[in-house]
Parts: sequence; C-alpha cells; structure tokens
Amino acid sequence: MESRNSYQSPSRRGSAEDRPSYGSRPSYGDQRYSTRGAPQGGRGRGPSPRSGGGSARAKQFIHPSRFIQEARVTEKADYLPIHSFEDFAVHKKILDNIVIKGFEKPSAIQDQTIPLVLEGKDVVGIANTGTGKTAAFAIPMIHDLMTNMDHRALIMAPTRELAQQIMEECFSFGKGCGLRSALLIGGASMYLQKRDLRTNPRVVIGTPGRIKDHVQQGTLPLPLFNFIVLDEVDRMLDMGFINDISGLLARVSQDRQSLFFSATMEPKIARLIEQFSRNPVTVSTKEGSTVDSVSQNVVYYSGSTDKMDKLHDVLIGGDCGRTIIFDDTKRAVERLGRELHARGFKVDEIHGDKSQAQRSKALSRLKSDEINILVATDVAARGIDVTDITHVINFSTPNSYDDYVHRIGRTGRAGKGGKALTFLSR
Ligand code: ADP
Ligand code: MG
Repeated sequence: MESRNSYQSPSRRGSAEDRPSYGSRPSYGDQRYSTRGAPQGGRGRGPSPRSGGGSARAKQFIHPSRFIQEARVTEKADYLPIHSFEDFAVHKKILDNIVIKGFEKPSAIQDQTIPLVLEGKDVVGIANTGTGKTAAFAIPMIHDLMTNMDHRALIMAPTRELAQQIMEECFSFGKGCGLRSALLIGGASMYLQKRDLRTNPRVVIGTPGRIKDHVQQGTLPLPLFNFIVLDEVDRMLDMGFINDISGLLARVSQDRQSLFFSATMEPKIARLIEQFSRNPVTVSTKEGSTVDSVSQNVVYYSGSTDKMDKLHDVLIGGDCGRTIIFDDTKRAVERLGRELHARGFKVDEIHGDKSQAQRSKALSRLKSDEINILVATDVAARGIDVTDITHVINFSTPNSYDDYVHRIGRTGRAGKGGKALTFLSR
C-alpha cells in the first residue's frame, strides 16, 4: 500500500498507479482525529478561527464544538402525506411526468402547499433545504399555466445554478405540456435570451440581476407576468438582491399570485412578503434542521502539508462518494483542484470566474460520475442540488454558521444521511 508521501512524488504524479483506491483504507475514524464524536475534546484546544485559506472577508469565530454532531436521521423521511399526487387535481400529463420522475408521494412541503397554490392563494413555504420545494411550486404552476392561457410565470432564484436546476425540474414536470420557457441568467448570451423572449415564453426563470437587465432593455414585459415565484428568498436577501427584487415586484402584474420559498423566515423576509403579497398563507414544515441528518466532525491539521495529507486520507476513505470541498477564494479553489488532480483524483472546480458553461459542465460531470469531487467557493455552490453527495468538506472554515449550514445542506438531502468534515488548524 502506498504511503501518503508517495503521492507527492512529482515523477509519479497523475500516473495510473497513483489513482486513489476507493474503499481501501479507513480515513477519519482513526485516532489522529481524536475529537471524533466528542465535542468536549474540541474545547480548550485554542483553535485558530482561520483555516489558513486566506479569505478576504472577516470570518466570524465559530466554536469547533458546533462542527461536531452525530447524525440524527429523523422520521422526516417517514412523513405521511395527507394527499397522494393524484389527489391534486392537476392535468394528467403532469401526473404522468411525476410518475416518470419516480416521485411516489408528496413531501411535507408539497403535501401542504400544492393544494393552496391550486386554490390560487399566495403562499409562503418555509422548509429545510432538500425537502422538495421546487416541485411544490413547479407542479401547481404548470397546471395553472396549462389551465389559464393568459397566465405567465416568473421565477426568481439567487444563483445561475439554481435557476438552471429549476428550469430542468420544470422541464421534467412539464414535458409535453406545450409551455415555452426562457432562462435569464448572467454569464450567458443576452442575444440568445432576447431571441427566446421574442417567442413569448409562458415561463421565465432567472436571477434578479439578469432579469433586471432585460427589463431595462425593454425585452421582458413584466406587467404580463401574473404568477410569481421567489425561491430561496433568504439567500437572495443575503446576496443583496433586496432592491432588485422590490423593483421587479413593483412592476409585475398587480393582479397576480405570488409564492415565496425560503429555508428561514427572518424579519426582513417577512417585510418583503408583507409588502408584495395578498393575504398569504404560510406553511412551515420545519422541525429540526437539515443539519441534523448530517454527521459532522472536525479534522485537525498542523501546517499545509499535513492539511493536504489529511484531506487525501479522507478522500481515499472507503465511504467517500460524491464530495464537495469548500475553499475560500477562487484562487484557493483552483490551487486545490490542481493539487487533487495531480494526485490522481477525479475533480473539477466551480467559482465565480468560471463561465456558465464551465460551471454547468462541472455539475453534469459530477452527476454522471465522471468526477466525484467538486471544489467550490460558497457563492458558486449555493443551491446546488446534486443527489447523493456523501461528503461536504470544509477545507476552509465558513465565514459564518449560516454559511456552514448552507454548505453542509448539500449533503444529507431528501432524508438521506451525509457527512460533513471541517478542517481546523491545531
Ligand atoms: P429544496 O428546494 O427544498 O432544497 P429540491 O426541490 O431541490 O429541495 O429537492 C431535493 C431533492 O429531492 C431533488 O433531487 C428532488 O428531485 C427530490 N424530491 C423532491 N420531492 C420529491 C418527492 N416527492 N419524492 C422523491 N424525491 C423528491
Ligand atoms: Mg430549492
């Protein structure tokens, strides 16, 4: 069995023998990471709040004990819905598509919001990450658009990736339903988007910035849109989109149905909703958090060589499948990706300087198992929904506990367990 150092020999870099043998060694269960499962062990070590990642922004200090928790896969997976999908009297075509997609029964948020949306009510859906909020609005939205030919839907999401995923989800539920759509995201051709908009799509999905660009250029007639969805409202506000969103909501049709989805409900979200909705019904299915289904631990390292070696050990551990590794900066992400590639791992990177095409490609490579490791910055990873992420690795500590929760929410989705490891300097 190769020693860890052998991976650093330049002469052997990237050779076939260097490929890590998945399933060969235990990784972080051994004694070197001695705080495993023992929150007290993490105290009194005087850890540095920084991970050496070189973040430009100031980081909040997060006590190491908050990065350690056994998974508690709760009965959430056993939620007993009141409705079956057939109970939602939506068009047969949509029901067929749900069957094709393999959804057997509605998740809690779907069970509780779909009937309200079908009644035409404004709805605020609060549910943890990974609980199926997309279908909760996509299914009744498609039904509404098929029923009312003068309806048009506008969906706003915080990131390009998320907008794209919503688009794909809408495609899968709306296959054969005759609805044209347009995706308005940054980093993609304005020209092609304008061409799509000229076909009068019934569904427009986009990020606030790019939607605003189109409105300003007169290519998106907002007053025609009367079915509005704001997804991941909390993230949109975190990312500073509040003014853009308010500006856009003020211009869509006054006679409309509005839906808001968020993992959290804070006063600023409540204010936005109050201002732009009409007697909304709030549904919250939160009980415990997504974090509870993720087994969390820390990995202590001394110095950058040790840090890399420990990461290598984790990645060749038997249980490491699809993995997302977070690092602070674009440059750190690039550097780590290169290093892992040189060590024979199947890896790609996403960050803000990558083109939309590159980011999409990286995600599809992960989905198709061409790679199993994605190195990412926080912003690039927001809203990614790739199923069966087994590990989230915080190679740099997150800027805040909130960011931590969002990072580790990439795993443990849809009631499945996952692992999160946070690297801390001794
Ligand atoms: P959220 O927006 O709440 O974070 P998503 O809509 O992204 O969650 O859904 C998370 C995952 O769960 C997706 O892969 C989705 O296809 C899957 N999913 C959603 N609803 C169901 C369901 N009723 N049955 C099975 N899988 C589902
Ligand atoms: Mg979502």
